[in-house]
Amino acid sequence: MNIVLLGAPGAGKGTQAQKLVEEFGLAHISTGDLLRAAVKAQSELGLQAKAYMDAGKLVPDQLVINLVKERLQADDAKAGFILDGFPRNTAQAVTLDSELAAMERNLDAALLVDVKPDVIVKRLSSRRTCRSCGYTAPAGVDVCPRCGGEMYQRDDDKPETIQKRLDVYQTQTAPLIEYYRGHSILKEVDGDRPVDEVYADVRALLTA
Ligand SMILES: [Zn+2]
Repeated sequence: MNIVLLGAPGAGKGTQAQKLVEEFGLAHISTGDLLRAAVKAQSELGLQAKAYMDAGKLVPDQLVINLVKERLQADDAKAGFILDGFPRNTAQAVTLDSELAAMERNLDAALLVDVKPDVIVKRLSSRRTCRSCGYTAPAGVDVCPRCGGEMYQRDDDKPETIQKRLDVYQTQTAPLIEYYRGHSILKEVDGDRPVDEVYADVRALLTA
């Protein structure tokens, strides 16, 4: 099962991905985690990415694509994967399709976790992130349950930047919904419900 996760920042994609990983043994490929890991490992791609990040610039598409490509070839991704945070725009989606085709693979589903913008703003402004591993939890959790690291509020999750992130999502990422609808692999769930209810729908859609 090869899946792309879609949805605004804060829609709960990571939580759903984690459940799919546990149940189906898929590799969870989050570009945020990939970038952090590459930088930490000081791999060639990681060092290149770090130079952009240190300069406060966006890591270029091609670099992210190379990281994803490398990750897709790892053993644990052979049985299936979930891409989270990639592709971010239609150009990346087109590139992904051709990279997958070159590996004689394809996407089975683009799963959209749909949550309204006002709900997203509330969720994100109360979100805390682990400094070491990137785990996220609601405000009030001070120690990461996954690795014991310090939980903090990312600048990204401060109210003044949330609207900007949603605008970027609307203009760049939302068009992917139509792209995958056109490829007849779009599956939509209402993400504004308890996690387990959302997952029941996700599961039903993906195994139908
Ligand atoms: Zn952690």
